[in-house]
Amino acid sequence: MPARISRCPRSIAADAVAERRDDVLVVGGGVVGLACAQALAAAGRGVRVLERDHLGGATSRGNCGTLTPSHALPLAAPGMVGKALGWMLKPDAPFLVRPRFDPALWAWLLRFAARCDARTFVAAIAPKAALLSTSQVLLADLVESRKLDCGYRRDGFVYVFRDARAFHAAVDSHVPLREHGIVVEQWDGARAEAEEPALKPGVAGALFFPGDGHLRPERYTAELARIAREDGAAIEEGVEIVALERDGEGWRAIAANGRRFHARELLLASGPWAARMVRGLGLRLPIVPGKGYSITYDRPAITPRRPLVLKEQSVCVTAWDDGFRLGSTMEFAGFDARLTRARLDALERGAATALHEPVGPVKREEWFGWRPMTWDDLPILGAVPGHRGLWLAVGHGMMGMGMSAATGRLLTDLMTGRAPVIDAAPYAITRFG
Ligand SMILES: Cc1cc2nc3c(=O)[nH]c(=O)nc-3n(C[C@H](O)[C@H](O)[C@H](O)COP(=O)(O)OP(=O)(O)OC[C@H]3O[C@@H](n4cnc5c(N)ncnc54)[C@H](O)[C@@H]3O)c2cc1C
Repeated sequence: MPARISRCPRSIAADAVAERRDDVLVVGGGVVGLACAQALAAAGRGVRVLERDHLGGATSRGNCGTLTPSHALPLAAPGMVGKALGWMLKPDAPFLVRPRFDPALWAWLLRFAARCDARTFVAAIAPKAALLSTSQVLLADLVESRKLDCGYRRDGFVYVFRDARAFHAAVDSHVPLREHGIVVEQWDGARAEAEEPALKPGVAGALFFPGDGHLRPERYTAELARIAREDGAAIEEGVEIVALERDGEGWRAIAANGRRFHARELLLASGPWAARMVRGLGLRLPIVPGKGYSITYDRPAITPRRPLVLKEQSVCVTAWDDGFRLGSTMEFAGFDARLTRARLDALERGAATALHEPVGPVKREEWFGWRPMTWDDLPILGAVPGHRGLWLAVGHGMMGMGMSAATGRLLTDLMTGRAPVIDAAPYAITRFG
């Protein structure tokens, strides 16, 4: 590191010498880092956020923006392995593993596959439901109390089925949600078509989750940054942290341009990149990137009233006052940065089977993002044993928007010694042994 600093321009080198000293450094300015920073700053901690690129510019940007306790069922479900094997050779399949030499990915997939049994599936619902439902309440409070302009609405979420057998199977598999206070309504095809006139005829049935909500992710992260700053947080973009090291009682984070930051405590919220970041500390995080795609349009004339998932096509449809988005797909292919045409086309094709107006009049953006996936579908939250002052808020997988508010609150509770808003044990890094 000293060699790196000596190569820096004079002003940066001077800055590096005058090392910044903060109370808490948050590395990563996605929805999770910003939610943590805001909650910590509001609790009186001195926070500095360091973001490599633009705030909310990675996975937190082009996602579907749904806030869904309804998604408390884990991804590792009975029958999932068979389905995934069947999809392996279909380039437009909704769940795809691209065969490649990647020992970490294969170890991850084996652990994931081992969880696809009924008992583990049911047991895994509670901690996911707790985080999602708590987040729903906290986020609604924040939007209301701080007047966040982010297109937030809480008018439910609909799973649409065109296949009767798939519908009845889903009715059964969603029963356990009720035990966790998540309301599930069953609509027949006629009711679904009446409730959602944007749907083409031929709906076999739908599940309606009235407690779900949605927002426009890009606007939400911008608003989180605004209130975090109002609450006293310092936020810097364009700062890539390349090394972390223990420094006396605290931590030092060293940036690619040689700048050095020191803080009493360090909170990593760097999404799918966290696993690489902590390797130098001798830590292994079971997080792999799960790539998803979206296409954003101007709003068509007829849009669904609530966000939908077209289940057989695995396409999520979200409409806001200022836009319309198709999203989804899960691809395990490492950090492959190609925008694959087959995956994007599958979104539009899937939407066309079910919606009168599957696309908007103007296409604004084709996008992909890497979800930070753990094999047990839960994020890793809390302290790192043996590394005093190091905290993690990573691995939110498919639910980072919907879990962000509770994550910020829980980390703040733990870092300030308050009673935790929910039991933190299920999310601890120690569960991986
Ligand atoms: C297609 C798709 C649809 C989705 N839909 C939904 C949905 O409807 N609802 C939902 O809840 N979730 C959804 N998700 C998941 C959600 O987007 C993620 O869980 C969430 O964005 C993760 O947030 P994060 O802050 O952990 O990661 P990120 O947003 O990726 O943020 C991590 C940040 O860390 C920064 N960083 C990394 N390395 C460094 C470094 N060395 N130095 C400094 N900064 C660094 C990155 O630049 C990045 O900005 C979807 C995801 C996809 C792909």
